[in-house]
Amino acid sequence: MSSTGNGPGLRVAVVGAGIGGLTAVAALKRHGVRCDVYEQAEHLREVGAGLQLAPNASGVLHRLGLAEPLRRVAVRPAAVEMRRWDTGTLLGRTELGDACERRFAAPYLTVHRADLHRILATACPEGSLHLGSRCTEVVEHDEGVQLRFADGSSRHADVVIGADGIHSAVRAGLAADAPRYSGTVVYRGLVPADRLPRHRDDPHVRLWLGPGKHCVVYPVAGSSLVNVVATLPAREWAGESWTARGDVADVRAAYADWHADVREVLDALDEVGLWALHDRDPLPSWTRGHRTVLGDAAHPMLPFLAQGANQAIEDAAALATCLSPVSEPASVPEALARYDEVRRARTGRVHAGARRNHGMLHLPDGSEQRRRDAELREATDLATQDWLYGYDAFAV
Ligand SMILES: Cc1cc2nc3c(=O)[nH]c(=O)nc-3n(C[C@H](O)[C@H](O)[C@H](O)COP(=O)(O)OP(=O)(O)OC[C@H]3O[C@@H](n4cnc5c(N)ncnc54)[C@H](O)[C@@H]3O)c2cc1C
Repeated sequence: MSSTGNGPGLRVAVVGAGIGGLTAVAALKRHGVRCDVYEQAEHLREVGAGLQLAPNASGVLHRLGLAEPLRRVAVRPAAVEMRRWDTGTLLGRTELGDACERRFAAPYLTVHRADLHRILATACPEGSLHLGSRCTEVVEHDEGVQLRFADGSSRHADVVIGADGIHSAVRAGLAADAPRYSGTVVYRGLVPADRLPRHRDDPHVRLWLGPGKHCVVYPVAGSSLVNVVATLPAREWAGESWTARGDVADVRAAYADWHADVREVLDALDEVGLWALHDRDPLPSWTRGHRTVLGDAAHPMLPFLAQGANQAIEDAAALATCLSPVSEPASVPEALARYDEVRRARTGRVHAGARRNHGMLHLPDGSEQRRRDAELREATDLATQDWLYGYDAFAV
């Protein structure tokens, strides 16, 4: 493994070069803090799937100087629409587009994960990214940490930031908990937009809600692709891996009695990936001494508020702000404690909202569902999202 060192100042090590880890590197760079990021994969790559970026995260990326590259690959949908599974009746419509950008000073975007990942990777300082570096253990000392890697090598750092996802090795030293299976799987796929021109020419985030299932559709990659996410209940997950190749016939069969618009989208898919959805209970602390975690390593959440990556981006911005005044290793624990305090409260609320939505989105037809639909009709004002989209992660 190459050793670039960090020059003067703190030696910061980030474990994991996903969206959270790379944003942390870019945010620390903005504050003049150099860090090294260790990624287990031999090559940088992201799964082919879409991501909704709300203003609370797109605003961070804009302030990191990434507005222009993002604009080239993202789509700015006009609105989020929720519809009933069988009749297609509109249950609620929240304006995005200009209205959202005016209110939150940043846009609501949909992107291909690989596009966002590539943009973030190009924002990393040269030589800071170490591929093929699987961290196996973090050992704490009074003045820092030692990172151990699968190839037998080790590195010292003044701070280690675990951005290594839901199976985090860095988190393992903080808690002995385990991921929790949600009883739900998602099929995700991308369709060339020429096959679904309405979704390309009239970009919206469209959700169809029905008993036990929901389906989300939006364009990505400059509207050249349409992203499809279909959830299904599955009592058990027997596979060793949480991701697998799915069978398009299965997802079509599961939605066979849904509205023609949903069936049209599913019929256009050539292939799908399958994800078993897991989260973890919130931790009482993410930080010990010179070690902390962010993103899915800290607060893996269900995707039913579309906020997992958004929260990882917020974490990165907040952590960089907390660490930026620190020049002595001895001051690190205090800075990390501040980050921990601010971010656990914020992500706890989002995590709970995502769990609540799990039940809410999948209600069987009946009185509870009618009450939900009435609430959805009421809650279309963007002001109801102030708590979520209006958050300034740099202001910690
Ligand atoms: C179906 C679905 C839809 C979603 N939709 C959205 C959405 O619309 N909006 C949104 O904000 N979020 C969404 N999410 C959530 C989002 O994908 C995650 O929250 C986000 O990717 C977490 O980013 P991360 O950087 O924390 O972790 P990861 O993306 O998991 O990255 C972790 C990185 O660490 C590396 N790594 C792991 N272990 C080690 C190790 N020991 N040593 C070195 N490297 C290691 C991995 O290889 C990886 O590169 C969705 C999730 C799902 C499943």
